[in-house]
Amino acid sequence: MRPLAEHRCGICSQSLSSADAECGNPICNWPLERRYFTRVDALALFAHPLKGPVKAFKYDEGKEGWAVIFGRLIVGWMNDHAEEMADIDLVIGNPSAPDRAPLQHIETIMLVAHSEDATDRWPIVAPDSPPLIKLRETPKSAGGGVRWGEKMEAARAHAAALHLRQSVRGKRILLFDDVFTTGATFHTVGKLLTEAGATEVRGLVLARVPFGS
Ligand SMILES: [Zn+2]
Repeated sequence: MRPLAEHRCGICSQSLSSADAECGNPICNWPLERRYFTRVDALALFAHPLKGPVKAFKYDEGKEGWAVIFGRLIVGWMNDHAEEMADIDLVIGNPSAPDRAPLQHIETIMLVAHSEDATDRWPIVAPDSPPLIKLRETPKSAGGGVRWGEKMEAARAHAAALHLRQSVRGKRILLFDDVFTTGATFHTVGKLLTEAGATEVRGLVLARVPFGS
């Protein structure tokens, strides 16, 4: 997998030209009291060889097998970043589809991650009782050339279609998603979780889309 850049934004993991360069992602320049996540880590860049499987898993039928690889990858990341994981109380998948039978997409990855983490070292919630579910489909924001405002609009609609099924009060949450670009989804879902009492929302994604691409 293509690793993240050596110099990268401490909030959104975007590649930077130098250690002191400013991040061009608008959300990173918002004050923390306006942004509902502290930072998003990524396993790799959204580039070959990870890009193809991530897209196929998301959009093509019959590619469910990739969930096994992705679930193992995220638990591997957690094991390698034990210090950063130490204060996380709950790992939640960002639900992408309202249809939960059979399990779809992010929840399939969470299912693998939950069983891969055989000793329950990390607080990965089993997908048979996910704290967060999606009640209805919302317009997609994916695709090149989608503008910031449209992404934020789609992210708001997504968060509005979510339903929280258990208390997150006082908890530090690691929200898992497959891909991210701007952080709009982490912001809107993070707002939902923060308003429900979560003390911190941090993100983890498989792949970070190079900003502006
Ligand atoms: Zn940034």
